[in-house]
Amino acid sequence: MREANFDRGRCLLFRLDHGEDIICQISRMSANERIDTGVLSAIGALDGAVLGYYDQRLHRYEDIRLEGQFELVSCSGNISLRDGKTFVHAHAVLADRQGRAFGGHLMSAVVFAAEVFIQELLGRPLCRIDDPITGLKLWE
Ligand code: ZN
Repeated sequence: MREANFDRGRCLLFRLDHGEDIICQISRMSANERIDTGVLSAIGALDGAVLGYYDQRLHRYEDIRLEGQFELVSCSGNISLRDGKTFVHAHAVLADRQGRAFGGHLMSAVVFAAEVFIQELLGRPLCRIDDPITGLKLWE
């Protein structure tokens, strides 16, 4: 286990633009605000999404494509640096009209409406590097 300590920085609440990708918007906002490290949460509604399921044996993501309208019931994640750039890692639970839930690594999703909270964390920025055991880019 590895641990890093941070101080709390700014708290940001913002609304995302309709019709644009959720990850791109959060990444852009984080880069514009120069947030190298932070945690995030979001709720809202989406018009289609791609979730990822990581195959631990094959070391690759399988796409879960969801088409249509969904509630973004819960989205949580973090912000750190990957290859020197802002990288948003988020997971999400979506619900359909019957309330059935789908969850996974949030690859992309078109925003119908969404509200995001970011807690900036101050300290030595967290950087992601290749991890040969998992095949993922994990915090160094
Ligand atoms: Zn993930």
